[in-house]
Amino acid sequence: MSRRSYWGYEYFHQTTSYEVSSKASEYIRRQAAKGITLHPVAPKSNSRKICQSWWGISWCDNLERYADYSNRLERGRKYVRAGAVLDLEIAKGQVNALVQGSSSNPYRVSITIDPLSEARQAQILDISLTRVKNMEELLNGKFPEEMKTLFFSRDGLFPTPREIHFRCSCPDGAYMCKHVAAVMYGVGLRLDEDPLSFFVLRGLDATQFIAKALDNKVDGMLKNAEKKSKRIISDKDVESLFGAL
Ligand SMILES: [Zn+2]
Repeated sequence: MSRRSYWGYEYFHQTTSYEVSSKASEYIRRQAAKGITLHPVAPKSNSRKICQSWWGISWCDNLERYADYSNRLERGRKYVRAGAVLDLEIAKGQVNALVQGSSSNPYRVSITIDPLSEARQAQILDISLTRVKNMEELLNGKFPEEMKTLFFSRDGLFPTPREIHFRCSCPDGAYMCKHVAAVMYGVGLRLDEDPLSFFVLRGLDATQFIAKALDNKVDGMLKNAEKKSKRIISDKDVESLFGAL
């Protein structure tokens, strides 16, 4: 919102999606002219849901179920739809983004997510991931329902508001402003493109999930083989009892 003067009266001007959108494109063009490539995120369709993949949708559902965020997210949705998230980079426990607002230069947003403790990681791996068969299933979110609930449980993989900390360079940056909210959705959109980013963000090695599943499979096969061989021995014992060769 900016203050404008009109015939001596002052009124507040509400920034429109169109203004944000055109300023965003202009900024991307200016940066490209300087040889700087940005990585914007924006929904591809106008459908009600911003994200389309299991990871993206689940990320957004997780945010939307917290009362702490409920009245902040609506404007974030409008901003991300307007193409305001000009650049978004996911690193371990960290999201850095540039968001177009009402001024000509974008705001810098950074989101930090508390890391998962080693114990919690091991627990999650142990409980759930024995069921993932391959990387493709994991990335497509195709795993059993009980595993999905584990992602959302209190000690699950999706972060809770107490684990999420954010900062924005705008004047309202002390609380969750529309720019931060837009980046929250931007993370979901990035997960649509690249679900492995989720594992990067949470500091998990996705290949470990698969390795663990394989370990368990091999363990199970060995146990079965052991049972089988014991059975064979006892059959032989029975045979020898009756003098058979
Ligand atoms: Zn802000």
